[in-house]
Amino acid sequence: MNVTDPAWPGYMWQPWGERRHAYRGGRRPDGENVVAFCGTPLTTTSYPGDNPPEWQWPECSACAETVSEIADRRALVERRRRHEIEDLHAYGGQPLTRHTRRA
Ligand SMILES: [Zn+2]
Repeated sequence: MNVTDPAWPGYMWQPWGERRHAYRGGRRPDGENVVAFCGTPLTTTSYPGDNPPEWQWPECSACAETVSEIADRRALVERRRRHEIEDLHAYGGQPLTRHTRRA
């Protein structure tokens, strides 16, 4: 698993087996088999209601650790992106695509 990939697609939490696990990617329809970050296979399930008890289950610690790494990594990537844009303006630069289109 490569959490250093800037294109990391995110994660979803999924209550399963009295723990809240997380899996890679966006929300999926119910009934899909996925593997949580900790390696637990689970089936995507939504729980009805505003505050279903399943969402009170404790977090899986391995999944929580991976999710926090993703959050840290995303913050870092976002900071870098902002700095790159600021640098570009500071030097009067323009994106390369503008130059290539002029010809
Ligand atoms: Zn887990």
